[in-house]
Amino acid sequence: MLIGGSRVGSVSGRTYEVCNPATGELVDTVPLGTPEDVHQAVAAAEKAFAEWAETSAEDRGIALANACELIKEHAAEIAQLLTSEQGKTLFEANLEVHHLLHGLEFYAGLASKQRGSYVPLPQKGAYGLVIRQPIGVCAGIVPWNFPLTLMGTKVGPALAAGNTIIIKPASTTPLATLRTAELIQQAVYAGGKGKLPPGAINVVTGSGAEVGEALLAHPRVRRIAFTGSTEVGRHVMEVAGPLIKRVTLELGGSDPMIVCEDADVPAAARMADAGRYFNCGQMCLGVKRLFVHAAVYDDFVGQLRAILEKKVVGPGNDKASRMGPLHLAYQRQEIEEQVEDARSRGAHVTVGGARPSGLDAGNFYLPTLIEDARWDSRVVREEVFGPVLPVFKFDDLDEAIQLANDTEYGLGASIWTRNLVAANRAVERLQAGNVWVNSLHYGYDELPFGGVKASGLGREHGPEALDYYVETKAVVMAGLS
Ligand code: NAP
Ligand code: MG
Repeated sequence: MLIGGSRVGSVSGRTYEVCNPATGELVDTVPLGTPEDVHQAVAAAEKAFAEWAETSAEDRGIALANACELIKEHAAEIAQLLTSEQGKTLFEANLEVHHLLHGLEFYAGLASKQRGSYVPLPQKGAYGLVIRQPIGVCAGIVPWNFPLTLMGTKVGPALAAGNTIIIKPASTTPLATLRTAELIQQAVYAGGKGKLPPGAINVVTGSGAEVGEALLAHPRVRRIAFTGSTEVGRHVMEVAGPLIKRVTLELGGSDPMIVCEDADVPAAARMADAGRYFNCGQMCLGVKRLFVHAAVYDDFVGQLRAILEKKVVGPGNDKASRMGPLHLAYQRQEIEEQVEDARSRGAHVTVGGARPSGLDAGNFYLPTLIEDARWDSRVVREEVFGPVLPVFKFDDLDEAIQLANDTEYGLGASIWTRNLVAANRAVERLQAGNVWVNSLHYGYDELPFGGVKASGLGREHGPEALDYYVETKAVVMAGLS
């Protein structure tokens, strides 16, 4: 683990194994954290906070920028670690490191550009100030699908605003996170005269039930940034609510993609592929329900099918692989049951729907396309966290939008059209935190990102994310003239 600037074991002395999802082989062992380890991390983060909150905003930005330089020097090593513990292809792992850096650099630049305000008041000689101050010790709880970028969306704004942070990675993906956090912890400013105080960033490895719960319940962790399932997100609110902690939740999704009759069909088909099958479909923001206008349905589905049938599935570190294994055996079983449920209700699985042959050691599953799924089937009603996409034919845009909104989730949504009226109607009516027209993008650092409905609370990315890492203080200045 990383506590107070040092790599340490758990006070329990226990460890657990991290295995490669493509081969089942052991990658490394890490400490099995306990509430006592969390306690020590909080103490270290509190000590670091006293110093970091006093460090100038400019120096905080410089330190974050220096952290990025250190990560860049070790980018290849970090991407390799990520592929071996997570399963994603090396191409995807490199992209994730790149995205992490882009996000951290965004907050490095923003650190010194925060503003408060001056407010004239009715009393003579009095005025108000609105100032923003860091909150204190924050916790970031991160899932296994994008361990690095989702750590970065928390660490960047937290440190830029003057907070310190404890990261709890998913139990199965702690390795790239540990290495990256260790490098961030080494960051310097003022030509090496200043450095990030030890404990500014900590990583406690272990289970959600032990380490995660201890962070949620710890009275001196004032802010919880959680990314993960809606089910655990609900629990986070239940525990953090009575303690009046600041909470943001980035949860599940079931994004619709609507392809109109005037869409650029080849571009839309390529992006449907990227939007659903990147990262083996293990994305919160993934195209999970596809609606295609009847006039272009056959053309579109034909093009998508051709892309999927050519996709090479294999281990992430094999250069030929375009899609790696699912991260967990349990995950594959869940997906097999969801596809089976659709089949049993009369759907046609027109691509995939099975395990690939000759890849028995890992959790592999073929890219899968489902047509004619019934609306009450599990692939429609539930979030499918893997490479499976149900596609529907529509005639009327308003009906498509209505179906698109018929889900408990509201993370992303896209419409593909050159008709401004149709695009505008979709932008206004789609119930989602992120809406794209002729595009799919997985979290621009420049724009706020988050969900409505059961997809979450609060926003990450953009200048908006900083608002969730500060307390606003209203000050009245009087009697000074
Ligand atoms: P998960 O089970 O909710 O786990 C997420 C994190 O929470 C892990 O670090 C997990 O630790 C921890 N955790 C589990 N139980 C906990 C508890 N009782 N108290 C505190 N922490 C606890 O999610 P997942 O199944 O790994 O990830 C997939 C889900 O994440 C999907 O629903 C996906 O849509 C969502 N997601 C959302 C976004 C977004 O930005 N909206 C991004 C990516 C993923 P362990 O690993 O030890 O269980
Ligand atoms: Mg889980």
